[in-house]
Amino acid sequence: MWLTHHDVVSRTNLVLTTHCSIRCLGCRWWELDAPHLSSHHLTQLIQTGQFFDEYPITQVYNIMGGDPLLFEALPALLTLLKSEGIYIRFWTPIGYGEESLRQIESYVDEVVLYLPYPDANEYRTYTGCDAYLDIERWLTESNQSLRMSLHTWCTPLTVGWLPDIHELARGIQARFLITYGLAHEWHRDELDFIHRYQSIKGCMVVPIRRRHRQSCPAIPMAMLQSDWGLGWQWLSGVMKEWIPRV
Ligand code: SF4
Repeated sequence: MWLTHHDVVSRTNLVLTTHCSIRCLGCRWWELDAPHLSSHHLTQLIQTGQFFDEYPITQVYNIMGGDPLLFEALPALLTLLKSEGIYIRFWTPIGYGEESLRQIESYVDEVVLYLPYPDANEYRTYTGCDAYLDIERWLTESNQSLRMSLHTWCTPLTVGWLPDIHELARGIQARFLITYGLAHEWHRDELDFIHRYQSIKGCMVVPIRRRHRQSCPAIPMAMLQSDWGLGWQWLSGVMKEWIPRV
């Protein structure tokens, strides 16, 4: 149920923009002036039928930001990918709430929602954004055919929130992706606590060896660029469940 062939097949990772709908503490991406890709250029490629000359046809497209919901040419891009039958996995923090996501629900196949905190007050303090209750409502009411994953970047400050995010994920039958940086100073018991999730159905734990300090933790690029990407990580978690523990 949890590992699908879309986790292991060929994929393209498209970071559309560094603009973002939330303002995570310590992040400077959202205030960068230039979008990562030019909306104008992408629109031209699509309109002239040249998009797939520049980007490969793969079975999966990971659409990412910042927040890709802020990318002007997003509707044209999603329409094109959908018309080619490409599986669209959409990575977003949904800082502008449910309204913007409702507009793309019928185009994307899977949403990976970045959730730094599962609590309205903590979420507001960390992101400067008041959308938590909107997000929670959207999660419970969204289109049931949409596959859903919750992703959190775990740090020594947020490790205690993992059970709450996991509970939320379980309640909506979403997968739960936990990434954490090996560069942080971890206590042994904190790491043990994180790794416990590796053996829980539907959860995946991915240590990130190196992450550029200014990159967005919502996008585990090192994982997505590895040979098997999401699928390998998921599979290794599932296999651990089969290995008898002594
Ligand atoms: S860390 Fe990522 S999700 Fe958070 S504000 Fe920066 S770009 Fe947005």
